[in-house]
Amino acid sequence: MAQPADLSPIPEAEAPRDCPLCPRLVAFREECRVEHPGWWNAPVPAFGDREAWLAIVGLAPGKQGANRTGRPFTGDYAGELLYATLLKFGLAEGKYRADPHDGLQLKGAVILNAVKCLPPANKPEPREIATCRHYLDASLAVLTNVRVVVALGQIAHVAAARALSLPPSSTKFGHGAENVAPDGRVLLSSYHCSRYNQNTRKLDAAMFESVFERAVELRRLR
Ligand code: SF4
Repeated sequence: MAQPADLSPIPEAEAPRDCPLCPRLVAFREECRVEHPGWWNAPVPAFGDREAWLAIVGLAPGKQGANRTGRPFTGDYAGELLYATLLKFGLAEGKYRADPHDGLQLKGAVILNAVKCLPPANKPEPREIATCRHYLDASLAVLTNVRVVVALGQIAHVAAARALSLPPSSTKFGHGAENVAPDGRVLLSSYHCSRYNQNTRKLDAAMFESVFERAVELRRLR
C-alpha cells in the first residue's frame, strides 16, 4: 500500500524516511510503526508533476490517509473532493481509487504538505510547522514552473506565505483570498477540504471548485 519515496517528482527535496527533526512526531511515528507495520508511517513525499504550474499545499498527513498509504490525500475523506476536483479541471488523469497504485497522474499540479509527518490529533505544533518548512521551501525552490499556490486551510496558508516570502501578519487568509508574492507567484487560499469542513457545510464542492477555477484563470493572466 505504500508509495516508494522515489516516486516523488522532486526526490532532491524530500525528507529521509527517518527524519529526526521533530521529536514528538518521531515518537508518534514509532508508535504507529508498531501498531500498523504495513502502513507507510514516514514523511509523505510530494505527489504530482515536476513541471507543475499549480502547487497545492495541505496541512499534514491524515492517519488513515497519507500516513497509511504514503501518497498525499490518498485514502481519507479529504482526498475524495480534492482528487475529484483535480480530475474535473484536467489537472489529473486516470481514476482515483484511494490507492497509491491506482495509476492516477497529476498534470500541471503537484501536492505538498506544510508538515510531512502525521501529527497526533491532526495538530502540528508551531515549531514542527516551522521545522518542516525547510522541506516546503526546498520543494517550491525546485518547482520553478509553479505560478499559483493553493493553500488548504490556515496553517498551510501561513506556511506557504512564509515559503513565498510573504509576511504572514499582512497576508490575508480566507476562502478565495489572493496574495501576490514578491516573485509574482500567487498564493490562493481555500478552506481545507476536511471531513469536518464538509460535514459542517463550511465548504462544499462548488466553493472548492471556485478556487481551482480562479487558479486556472490566474495561470492565463500571468
Ligand atoms: S515533520 Fe518534517 S521536519 Fe518534522 S520530522 Fe517530519 S519530515 Fe522531518
